[in-house]
Amino acid sequence: MQLEFYGGAGEVTGSCHILTVGGRRLLLDCGMIQGGDSPDERNRAPFPFDAAQVDAVVLSHAHIDHSGRLPLLRKRGFRGPIYTNPACRDLVRILLADSATMQERDAERDNRKRHRSGAGRLVEPLYTLEDALDVLQQVRTVRYGQPVEVLPGVELTFRDAGHILGSASVWLTLQEGTLVRRVTFSGDLGQYDSPILRDPEPGPGADLVLMESTYGARLHRERAATLDEFGQILRDAKRDGGNVLIPAFAVGRSQEILYELATHFDEWQLADWRVFLDSPMAIEATAVYWKHADLFDEEAREWHARERTLPGLPNLTLCRTAEESMAINRMPHGAIIVAGSGMCTGGRIVHHLKHNLARPECDVVFSGFQAQGTLGRAIVDGREYVRIHGTPVKVAARVHTLGGFSAHGDQQDLLRWYAAIPGRPPAWVVHGEPEAAEGLRDALRAQGGRAEVAVPGAVLDLGAVA
Ligand SMILES: [Zn+2]
Repeated sequence: MQLEFYGGAGEVTGSCHILTVGGRRLLLDCGMIQGGDSPDERNRAPFPFDAAQVDAVVLSHAHIDHSGRLPLLRKRGFRGPIYTNPACRDLVRILLADSATMQERDAERDNRKRHRSGAGRLVEPLYTLEDALDVLQQVRTVRYGQPVEVLPGVELTFRDAGHILGSASVWLTLQEGTLVRRVTFSGDLGQYDSPILRDPEPGPGADLVLMESTYGARLHRERAATLDEFGQILRDAKRDGGNVLIPAFAVGRSQEILYELATHFDEWQLADWRVFLDSPMAIEATAVYWKHADLFDEEAREWHARERTLPGLPNLTLCRTAEESMAINRMPHGAIIVAGSGMCTGGRIVHHLKHNLARPECDVVFSGFQAQGTLGRAIVDGREYVRIHGTPVKVAARVHTLGGFSAHGDQQDLLRWYAAIPGRPPAWVVHGEPEAAEGLRDALRAQGGRAEVAVPGAVLDLGAVA
């Protein structure tokens, strides 16, 4: 019985760990590597196992850095079941289809370039929409708290991780002969008291815990202060007479922003604005959130029961077509535009930035992480000019960064989740940059826990643990 750290050890993307129990192989997640050095090459590299020999996958949540290589796994021979939560299944369908479409588009663009320059071999997309649709057929859903035998000797229970809708921590009981081990994988953990979602759920004991550490060395800003700031920005923006642009990820952040606008409608004086959700993917994801309202926290469930319309904002327009999106550009003021992508690397937000960024009466409100090298980062860093579609655009609009909107728990949240596991089992820290992972390890040790930072490629003999 063993556990091998493969992806998401020493970094924040590409989550994937390999369990071997009684000669069978189970993957925990199969995520895409994003950012860093040559991610495309690394995603294309062979897996350190034969995909056809994998017996099952357990998927903690829908984000691409946890699910994004599932179609590739299928393409390389995997035919087993993928276990996940019903809401995660609905979201991962949207995200994998989008990812596959991007892979196909990127390969096409590369091939056109190669063709023009006379360069030889054509590139193949990492996977196609067909691969993505095929792998979705392998998904089996399991509700939170419902134990299920996923392989002989492997019992799985999902518990809510409070990170995005349908996100789960994975609680496993493994049996091989007389050897029994309980292994827990945190998945990505959300913040306590965040809107819409429930708090990360505590679980029973474990012999070993794999813990994410995205913000293992940091504390988030208080949510109340963040919301006060958001409200003030919107009130000021109304006085200034421009538009407000909110770049947001389609799954999670867009729904959270709409929820905050709906629940602060009077306080933030939103009646004179028109709100646009300008992203087909975010519209689809919002419908999935709505469908699974039984997973909301108590406050959001009450709100859902009261509102009955999606998502409870009287002046909301959902923009599905390109024409509907372009029509917003005819509004010089009075529009709050929520659009993707979250880091302004593509999508409709880029067009809105082109129209509004040079206007001092407009506002751009960032609420998520902006990676190095993205348009979002250039704007947040205070550049005077940025390039949009090859043209320099002056940054005259007011730029705001809201600090408290993370889907990830901070160090305090992570410690709180760990402290609720009886017996302080040894923890292996994964899914974090080295500084964050070491920060969480030290904090766990300071609380009397045993903790190590997982090394990629390291193999743990589970018989020797605990
Ligand atoms: Zn995630």
